[in-house]
Amino acid sequence: GERQLPVANTSMEAHGDGVNELQQEGSKTLGVYKKTNAEGEVVVVTERSKQVKILKGARVGIMGKPCAEFVAGMWGTWLSGAVAVPLALNHPEAELLHVLSDAGVSVVFATEEYRELLEPAAKKCGALFYLLPSVASLDNDLSDKQEHGLQSIEKMEAEIHKVSSRIRGEQAALIIYTSGTTGKPKGAVHTHSSIEAQVRMLAKAWDYSTKDRFLHCLPLHHVHGLVNILLAPLFIGATIEFLPKFSTWDVWRRWQESYSNLDVPASDAITVFSGVPTIYVRLLQGYDLMDVDHQISCSLAASKLRLMMCGSSALPEPVMEKWERVTGHRLLERYGMTEFGMGLSNPLYGDRRPGFVGEPLPGVEVSIVEEEGAASGVGSLCIRSPGMFSEYWNLPQVTEKSFRKDGYFETGDTVTKEDGYYKILGRTSVDIIKSGGYKISSLEIEAVLLQHPVIAECAIMGIPDKDYGEIISAIIVPHEAQAAAAAAKWEPVLTLEALRDWARPLLAPYKIPQHLLVWESLPRNAMGKVNKKDLKNLILSSFP
Ligand code: ATP
Ligand code: MG
Repeated sequence: GERQLPVANTSMEAHGDGVNELQQEGSKTLGVYKKTNAEGEVVVVTERSKQVKILKGARVGIMGKPCAEFVAGMWGTWLSGAVAVPLALNHPEAELLHVLSDAGVSVVFATEEYRELLEPAAKKCGALFYLLPSVASLDNDLSDKQEHGLQSIEKMEAEIHKVSSRIRGEQAALIIYTSGTTGKPKGAVHTHSSIEAQVRMLAKAWDYSTKDRFLHCLPLHHVHGLVNILLAPLFIGATIEFLPKFSTWDVWRRWQESYSNLDVPASDAITVFSGVPTIYVRLLQGYDLMDVDHQISCSLAASKLRLMMCGSSALPEPVMEKWERVTGHRLLERYGMTEFGMGLSNPLYGDRRPGFVGEPLPGVEVSIVEEEGAASGVGSLCIRSPGMFSEYWNLPQVTEKSFRKDGYFETGDTVTKEDGYYKILGRTSVDIIKSGGYKISSLEIEAVLLQHPVIAECAIMGIPDKDYGEIISAIIVPHEAQAAAAAAKWEPVLTLEALRDWARPLLAPYKIPQHLLVWESLPRNAMGKVNKKDLKNLILSSFP
């Protein structure tokens, strides 16, 4: 069919009109995906049977586990000049509805398994629902050369080039919602230019190449899963292998077979992996349960990957150290935000420091604003970057308040610096505790408590106190074995007194917790981040 971009309605307020027009005019090109075939060529395919017309500027919600169908939906959205809104898979319905209506989504795409959840939600928000075409059917199309022929693939490729050359850099490409750690999730609008700047920066800093093969098991509604290990590798022409759901065994097995199974060609071996801290914690737990033979072969295989990265929240030093003992890899920790992608990174070559997030990435400028009463060198981090978002969707005042006059974006994170390496002390609003005139980093205390033999996970929070302003509360999750052993003896697994005695040689007196809660788990989001806003409400509700 004809493949021209719809010229009607270029306004970003196309919501209501967009739907009408969609219903009247029916369909157009949707599915596009890139694939490296046996010869190493990149082939671009479009889906022709189920075609959906999307208006320029319309917001298109996309939901799916990491899979090629998701990528097809996003590419199709972009070729239509529309804005992709990646949707979280585990949001309760109320939050999903918030995102759909806040972004003014007029069309949603999902894989079959999310139809039940998303179709009614879309209806409630006046959006049209479509299933993402399966890539397997595209594969069949591709092998069926008699019907379509390679020539027609070339034609399609030319067509796509023509269409994509009409997309301007300043056009919005994505609205990515922040994690909601400090308040309601905000939609950060990224243009094609800001995304391009981000992927170029990362590909360069971490030496991505066509020889790389990424094992991808992170959600696609955040920059980590979406930009760092999907768009950047695709941009450079690397290969991505999706693991739709993280599983300790699948990851270890895939690494192991990459390097110990002689039937697997070298080009199919995984070279790059990136995860959040909880992923590495779980991989280590899995490792501890293996027999020695498996441990040896898994360690050997993992050591052969080119690069292993970590981020999205602070990587505990004991985890980094144990990972290095097990795999020989010093995890490359980096720091970033939905608003500008990645900002600081430990070096690919050179010293990667535990507890630090490295230096500014190429093109990123940093300014630290020292706060009154803070220790010298401690301050709030401001960033200027070509990868910077353009605005918070529907929140002009918040956008304005987030930028300084000189164009620097205020991250809201408190940091410090040693020998050029930055250390994240936490979000100023929820992680920096103000107690008795001190400003205390909860991340620093969390890192120390994780060295305690009983503590598997912990979160430090400030709770209001009439004398000190705030006092330090520790919420800990004990290791299962110790919790069970203590319960069998009818004893608490850890008391505040015992914790304070243990912490005295390690922490300044004003940093030692004054309050302790022992829980079975911590509230975490899809990226493994502890939701401190929820946590604060939970703690406060436990007081009379
Ligand atoms: P919201 O902005 O909605 O409150 P959020 O800040 O958690 O939520 P994201 O954009 O997903 O939303 O996360 C960015 C934040 O994650 C950073 O501001 C920083 O506090 C934290 N972060 C990211 N990487 C690291 C890291 N390596 N170490 C410590 N903190 C990190
Ligand atoms: Mg934030």
